[in-house]
Amino acid sequence: MKNKNSETTINIAIDGPAGAGKSTIAKILAEKLGFLYLDTGAMYRALAFKLLSDSISVNDEKKVEEALNSIGISVQYADGKQKTLVDGIDVSDKIRTNEISKAASDVSRFPCVRNKMVDLQRKIAKLNNLVLDGRDITSFVLPDAEFKFFLTAKPEIRAERRFKELIEKGSDITYEKVLEDILQRDKNDSTRKLAPLKITDDSKVIDSSDLNIEEVLQIFLSEINKNLNC
Ligand code: C5P
Repeated sequence: MKNKNSETTINIAIDGPAGAGKSTIAKILAEKLGFLYLDTGAMYRALAFKLLSDSISVNDEKKVEEALNSIGISVQYADGKQKTLVDGIDVSDKIRTNEISKAASDVSRFPCVRNKMVDLQRKIAKLNNLVLDGRDITSFVLPDAEFKFFLTAKPEIRAERRFKELIEKGSDITYEKVLEDILQRDKNDSTRKLAPLKITDDSKVIDSSDLNIEEVLQIFLSEINKNLNC
């Protein structure tokens, strides 16, 4: 475990591509450990949702930057569960569509957007024992986090999981389209200039392609317990 000197909170950072199972594992870990869970992707999604609702192009950096000055993204917790708010309104249930996934990935490449989100994420991490997941947590947001993981899986398997989730929510999307979108998001997220998705040298890499949730969880817990006990 790393020593953060004066800081007293414990942060567990999990990065990885879409559909690797990060949020499922992060939620379970947070509950088991009594930590809060911060879904950083939800913050980018909430912004994308607001921009699309206001008919602002997520590819127009200037307009996005102007809009950002007056958009308030925040998170609140009710019974340990994260709510993601835009200008005080809870949008958590509206940000899980395929359209928002794509828009979040597009808008997240702008430095003005990342700076705003990262500031908020660091503030929350400083005040709370936190499990947080995203793309740049281990490399950029909290490079000194006590625990750093990179959770991944083969694209076809990730697409299959996402496809099932979307179908359960009533979407009529095809598997091929989900796979195409996942591959595009992988590319966007790992090739952007600022804080791209990457594996840091000190992250524990876990490939969940052939593992179920319980097996993945056990790997996380054994890593965390090993270090917490020393
Ligand atoms: O994790 P989730 O799929 O909800 O993230 C949506 C998008 O938000 C990602 O594809 C990525 O572009 C962006 N994101 C990011 N940095 C994070 C979390 C998410 O750029 N820490």
